[in-house]
Order: sequence, then C-alpha cells, then structure tokens
Amino acid sequence: MLFACKECLYVFESKIKPDQCPDCGKYAVRKATEQQAAEYRAYKNSKECKAV
Ligand SMILES: [Zn+2]
Repeated sequence: MLFACKECLYVFESKIKPDQCPDCGKYAVRKATEQQAAEYRAYKNSKECKAV
C-alpha cells in the first residue's frame, strides 16, 4: 500500500499505515492519492532506468 505525508509530500510503500512520516517524522501520513501513486511509480521507474 502507498502512503503519503501531508507535510513534506514524501510518498512511500508500507504494509501497515504508519503514524509518523519516515522522512520528516510528523504525524501527517495519509493514503496516497491516485496522482501521488502514479508520480511515485514514474519516479521509481526513471530511477531504475538511470541506474546504469
Ligand atoms: Zn513527512
């Protein structure tokens, strides 16, 4: 499942919903929106392509 931080907009994958953002530590974790999920997947793909 994908989650996103409302404060710093960090998107990450997790099996269970964490209370705190792993990036900024704030209690602002929400379920990622479809747009955020798409951006996350695009970012991951581009990173894998550049890792040459
Ligand atoms: Zn955050």
